[in-house]
Amino acid sequence: SADAAHAPHPAVRLPKGLLLLDGQLVEPLQGDRMIDAIDPSTGRTIMAFPACSAADVDRAVQAAQRCFESRAWQSMRPIDRGRLLERLALLVEDHADELAMLESLDSGKLIGVTRAIDLQFTIDGLRYFAGWSSKIAGQYVALNPLVPEDAIYRAYTERRPVGVVGGITPWNFPIGQAIQKIAPAIAFGCTVVLKPSEETSLTTLRLGELILEAGFPAGAVNIVTGFGQEAGAALVDHPMVRKIAFTGSTATGQRILAASAVTMKRVTLELGGKSPTIILADADLERAIPGAAAAIFSNSGQICTAGSRLLVEAPLYDQVIEGVSDIARTLKLGSAFDPATQVGPLISARQRDRVGGIVNNGLAEGAIALAGGEAVDGDGWFYRPTILGGVASQMSVMREEIFGPVVCAMRVDDGDDLVKLANDTPFGLAASIWTRNLDRAHMLADRIDAGTVWLNTHNVLDLAMPFGGNKLSGIGREFGHEAINAFTEPKAVCMRL
Ligand code: NAD
Repeated sequence: SADAAHAPHPAVRLPKGLLLLDGQLVEPLQGDRMIDAIDPSTGRTIMAFPACSAADVDRAVQAAQRCFESRAWQSMRPIDRGRLLERLALLVEDHADELAMLESLDSGKLIGVTRAIDLQFTIDGLRYFAGWSSKIAGQYVALNPLVPEDAIYRAYTERRPVGVVGGITPWNFPIGQAIQKIAPAIAFGCTVVLKPSEETSLTTLRLGELILEAGFPAGAVNIVTGFGQEAGAALVDHPMVRKIAFTGSTATGQRILAASAVTMKRVTLELGGKSPTIILADADLERAIPGAAAAIFSNSGQICTAGSRLLVEAPLYDQVIEGVSDIARTLKLGSAFDPATQVGPLISARQRDRVGGIVNNGLAEGAIALAGGEAVDGDGWFYRPTILGGVASQMSVMREEIFGPVVCAMRVDDGDDLVKLANDTPFGLAASIWTRNLDRAHMLADRIDAGTVWLNTHNVLDLAMPFGGNKLSGIGREFGHEAINAFTEPKAVCMRL
């Protein structure tokens, strides 16, 4: 079903469209149930890939469980699990150009960015977690014996892998997110079944081929594709899956959290956001204006930490609004492969219409479009970079995650409580503060209810820094030293001497 004729560049290599299951590339049980992968820059079909059923998911989970229980996996030296990840890093590096092409074709992400950011993050992620595999440690625990008083005890803790991990990823950073789930799971001794987003499964399928080439033990990593409500839900419901590592929308995260109660699964949920970009009266506008624009328009606004609420102190409000609106009006929309493109398409017609719907609600509630405010006619799914003024905290445009290139601008007047305004959202993922006043910057950073606060920058994600959200933005943290808590359980061992 692969239709290479639509590939925009000879370097694009399509995956075989087979599942990675128990160390083999296989067809799904019902080979006729397929999903079309569509190029959002043009609306054309690229190829079709399997829509797996619960039975396929069960095969994958059983394979992951067999591998987890096997002597070979249990006795593998941690540093050798790291070597598997290092080998995969080398393979991804060798194929980085090809993978970047495929990613941009399937997701509409700008090719230059995909190569420089997404693929580099993927390679770095494999190396970062490869290093962790050999640095897993517990603690000695001093006890307080009650009876008998003279007894001597020794106790220590270990970090044990949780077991089979179900990874479920969204469409905005497909290959990067896949590695974010696979690499720590393997480093900390778990096995994995990964289900990528049905909107962007191609690079994850290709990754499966490279995982096979890297020589991972059969069943250590399994990849199944399919719809969220079917394949995703089957993973969440499966009693052998001990933990779900999910990145996606808050609505799906809530469903997963509720469903996980039945089997008492561990979960980490990396969900949506409505992050404020806060520009204080003494900000350096040469940095703050392009910074605020990039915070929302990068990746067409399809970033969970996008700066979608622009809060500007009164003295700078007009200048900032004018500056960001100018940028919004001049950004060049286009195909992921055109080097002149600055803003690519949204992932699907549905997403473009959803963004349009929320903006129109906002306009009906009294917001004013200072730039953009409409979709673009023609091929592909484009929405104009948009800045909305005249907004109030209770309006739907200010409360809902739009996940498109739309920012709501608000003036912060003397006497307004800036912290209260910044925290007036059901989300708590990120925030940025732009100022030259370090005292105020740190004071605000301390009081903003978010997983990450940036000062004079935005959207800087680093594997060494814990990442995740508060409130409706999720549970748990990935990356950094926190990752060990996400993929292992502490076990206490106590001995009487
Ligand atoms: P989504 O929730 O629609 O889908 C995410 C994944 O969940 C997909 O693989 C989908 O198939 C699966 N899924 C859907 N329903 C399911 C169910 N009932 N059971 C199990 N799995 C199911 O999200 P999306 O639209 O693909 O991604 C956009 C969202 O992701 C945005 O809200 C964005 O903020 C969020 N996101 C968050 C982060 C973060 O780290 N906090 C990063 C990127 C994206």
